[in-house]
Amino acid sequence: MFRNFKAVEKTAYGRGSFDKLGEILAPQRQANEGYLIFFVDEYFTDKEDFKARLPLAEKDKLEFVPVKEEPTTELIDTLRDKYLNTYGLPAGVVGIGGGSVLDVAKAISLMFTNPGSSTQYQGLNLIKNPGIYACGVPTVSGTGAEVSMTAVLTGPEKKLGIKCDWTVLNQIVLDPDLIATVPDNQWFYTGMDNYIHCVESMTGHFKNTFSEAFGYKSLEMCRQVFLELERSDPKSDELLMVASYMGGLSLTYSEVGVCHALSYGLSKVLHIHHGLANCIAFNQLEDVYGDYVQEFKTMVDKHKIDIPQNLAAGWSEQTIDEMAEVAIRLEHMWRHAFGENWQEVLDKERIKNWYRRM
Ligand code: NAD
Ligand code: ZN
Repeated sequence: MFRNFKAVEKTAYGRGSFDKLGEILAPQRQANEGYLIFFVDEYFTDKEDFKARLPLAEKDKLEFVPVKEEPTTELIDTLRDKYLNTYGLPAGVVGIGGGSVLDVAKAISLMFTNPGSSTQYQGLNLIKNPGIYACGVPTVSGTGAEVSMTAVLTGPEKKLGIKCDWTVLNQIVLDPDLIATVPDNQWFYTGMDNYIHCVESMTGHFKNTFSEAFGYKSLEMCRQVFLELERSDPKSDELLMVASYMGGLSLTYSEVGVCHALSYGLSKVLHIHHGLANCIAFNQLEDVYGDYVQEFKTMVDKHKIDIPQNLAAGWSEQTIDEMAEVAIRLEHMWRHAFGENWQEVLDKERIKNWYRRM
């Protein structure tokens, strides 16, 4: 497999690094109409202490992003039009939040310089022009969105990333202090997104020494976080934040697999969030991921996490069929999981049977 991937240009890491954001952004402020937009997770709407730490200059804008639903193409288009029509082209955007908000910042940075709707650009290398400056500050760890070259959007037809070199953030600020307040279930679901990224990246046909180097290290850190340490241990958040970064890098030179394909079906059809959808699917994939699923279950038990089961009892055959249809179209994931001749071992019925177990 050949890849030639672009990395994040600048990375700041460490407790308290968030307070350097003003300094980090200063050289970027002059471009275009000279203002920055801060897209911040709605969780922080009433967190006055946190808001006081945002380095907002006079012309800057602050937009709280709704995250109950994963980001949609409609949200991106609406936000882009609102700012472009009222204030002109910004100097840059800053996304502060979980994977959802990071993807909003990544997508909107591109949509400021590419005409039409973001639905036109869902896919690989469809973007025509580089976006404006984009900085990301994760406040939940595990998606790897901070380093990935994709901004995942749900559109009217598909849940698919805008994927190209220009999607990669210019700057990230990794401050482990910021993830301390994530509720336990969410902390676990998104953390498991990273665990599953590593497992899938390293168990498929596209794996290689590069992806394994980051993947094994990230997996080892995940095990420390979810099997050895208590969450209250300060080391835990530091490990998880860096594990997410490394898991993301592992994926840039490999691929996700069966769990993510099934998870996309759950998210597209039933609007189940990515991390939770992964956990629901992975819990039933012992026939594919063996001991890793056992290990996952040990982590679930240790942290007393609620993973919904017996959901399929409430799904109609049509719902299962719709999800299988979404999943089977993700050919690159099946090719990675089962090889070039994946169609010989996988058909829609096998996919439906996985859904029927959930
Ligand atoms: P999220 O961004 O959807 O946030 C989950 C919840 O955590 C939200 O309710 C949010 O308000 C809350 N939250 C955020 N920060 C908090 C904090 N510090 N304290 C308390 N609560 C906080 O969750 P996520 O799992 O990080 O991201 C999922 C999204 O990422 C999905 O849209 C998925 O498609 C996307 N994703 C993208 C990539 C990529 O490479 N671009 C990879 C995987 C997933
Ligand atoms: Zn994922």
